[in-house]
Amino acid sequence: MPRFIVLPGDGIGPEITDATLHVLRAADARFGLGLTYDFHEIGLKTLASQGTTLPASVMEAAKTCDGVILGPISHLDYPTKDKGGVNVSAAFRVGMDLYANVRPARTRPGLGRGHQPLDLVIMREATEGFYPDRNMFQGSGEFMPTPDVAISMRKLTRHACIRIAERAFELARIRRRKVTAVHKANTFIVTDGFWLRCVREVAARFPDVVLDEIIVDACAAILVRDPQRFDVLVATNFHADILSDLASELSGGLGLAGSTNENEVLCCAQAQHGSAPDIAGQDKANPVSLILSAAMLLEWHEKRRGNAAAGAAARAINDAVDALLADPATRTVDLGGPMGTRAFGQALAARLEG
Ligand code: ATP
Ligand code: MG
Repeated sequence: MPRFIVLPGDGIGPEITDATLHVLRAADARFGLGLTYDFHEIGLKTLASQGTTLPASVMEAAKTCDGVILGPISHLDYPTKDKGGVNVSAAFRVGMDLYANVRPARTRPGLGRGHQPLDLVIMREATEGFYPDRNMFQGSGEFMPTPDVAISMRKLTRHACIRIAERAFELARIRRRKVTAVHKANTFIVTDGFWLRCVREVAARFPDVVLDEIIVDACAAILVRDPQRFDVLVATNFHADILSDLASELSGGLGLAGSTNENEVLCCAQAQHGSAPDIAGQDKANPVSLILSAAMLLEWHEKRRGNAAAGAAARAINDAVDALLADPATRTVDLGGPMGTRAFGQALAARLEG
């Protein structure tokens, strides 16, 4: 009986989480998954009640659960970190060592915003890079030596680069057998040069997978011009974060962009977008991003825990999403359709129940 912890988060988080649970319960009824859920508050609510956006009790619960459904967390109105406003996504990924942020983008029929369809996965390293590393830099990777100078540091380790590259090549083996390594080694000779050498080292162990290399700025251009060049992209944390917003927007919109944060023992479903405070509480958010993330969590259960029913449920959810989005009458507001968050979740659940 897989036990998931559910962290609805801020902004549109509670609405898209509700819709996602509605869909999961329908999938559960059909495929007999036996899922159970524990709910915990995080984000602005616990900042007010407990003085932190990420209570220690949530991290404890995550250590013994079988999966996490993580809603978006607001970053806009945070007080400084010493007042408890930690970046929940980053702290959760680093704290649980969820080093692979898997970010697919696939154009749904009739919804692409680029001039060519795309079908790719960005494998994002999620524990280091330009993101502040508390352990190494004692508080933050950013500082101001004088009031007029700001400095940011970036850490890459062999351990982290090798393991994310391995996940990319493994994934490519069950896709179109091509990995594109994204880098800026022409300018960041030490860090990106090191990154590229690590990826090449892993590539040598996967002779059946083609290694392609591209400079990050060219990658942004080629994503628009010729996205069919890409199958699996592997990139360091910051580059992948930017490119995945571009890829998901080209595929149809941020509201469609699911992702997981995962390692070999735990998987966390999390939409690629943020808390979208501009549309929060209005039943306008597209829940597909979190629903597809939850489907990826079920796929993880098939792959890592041999749970075939979870894999079948994931495929049924994807098919039902495709079917609803193919019809303009059952699209959400962000895609020009009439459906609110709740109605879309209900329609999807009804379709799954058949
Ligand atoms: P945060 O600070 O939490 O990242 P943000 O203002 O950057 O919030 P995002 O969630 O990153 O907002 O998304 C940017 C914009 O894209 C939002 O303002 C919203 O209009 C739109 N958007 C994002 N997610 C969705 C969604 N699921 N459904 C519909 N629109 C969305
Ligand atoms: Mg944002």
